[in-house]
Amino acid sequence: MLTIRKIIRVFLVPPLVKSNSVNVLRTVFVPAAWPNQSRHHSTVYPRVRGMGSPAVSAAARHLVVFDFDQTIVDVDTYTTVAQMAPLRGHALPEQLATAPKREGWVEYIHAILQFNYANKITSEEIRMKLQSLPLVPGMPELLEYLRANRLRLYDTVILSDANMCFIQWILEKFRLSDCFLRVFSNPAEVDEKGHLLVGRYHEQTDCQLSPKNMCKGRVLQEWMAERERVTGIAYESVYYVGDGENDLCPGKRLTARDIFFVRRDFPLARKLVESPDVQCAVELWSDGFDVMKRLKELG
Ligand SMILES: [Mg+2]
Repeated sequence: MLTIRKIIRVFLVPPLVKSNSVNVLRTVFVPAAWPNQSRHHSTVYPRVRGMGSPAVSAAARHLVVFDFDQTIVDVDTYTTVAQMAPLRGHALPEQLATAPKREGWVEYIHAILQFNYANKITSEEIRMKLQSLPLVPGMPELLEYLRANRLRLYDTVILSDANMCFIQWILEKFRLSDCFLRVFSNPAEVDEKGHLLVGRYHEQTDCQLSPKNMCKGRVLQEWMAERERVTGIAYESVYYVGDGENDLCPGKRLTARDIFFVRRDFPLARKLVESPDVQCAVELWSDGFDVMKRLKELG
């Protein structure tokens, strides 16, 4: 019987750099309009009108950062995919049921995907299932507000430990792809068998608050520094919207000018009660309307 480690060794291919892989991904699942993948395993919106041009004000821009699972989409995508085989009567082996804590999410989803494929659940079915998931109430309205004001005020990005495919599929379903300047997540591709492969964003052991495949705080800080160097845009403030414990690391790196929007009654809120060691303001939210109301007040 395959152990999880063996499954991972066979199927996990980090980083995903095969030259034809992106083409396969695009051919099978990704509309031509989807942005190019960069070497940072993120997408770059190719021609956001005015981005980086003189039309964009560099003087008082704000960066709005979204987690994805249970922040934009109102469920956990990995848990959803993990339930697909059991719902058809194929119970998860015990080592898979306990895998997340032991191996990390990237390894977990790889093992889950292989289990799904072994039980005749296809990538297309997974995509359809994910595209049936609900968004957090008010999130489309919030994202539309940010899109409408992107030239004047906001850059908006996703920073997620899910993977590029899951995020792309769901954003496309809701026609929200062009709301985001960048998407930072674990790289994903579809192989010649039509199977989805997920790799690690990077390898890290420095940050104990973060999983080894993605330190969100580091990703965010490095990108902001690069953006300032390349475009001259230094954000007046950062608004970080999240729900999970892996949002704590970036939250701790926010400054007194920033706001940490923490979803009420979710793990991050409970964690902050235990360890309220942040420099920024913390504001609780329940839906996208809460965040939008506050951003409008801040102007
Ligand atoms: Mg989350």
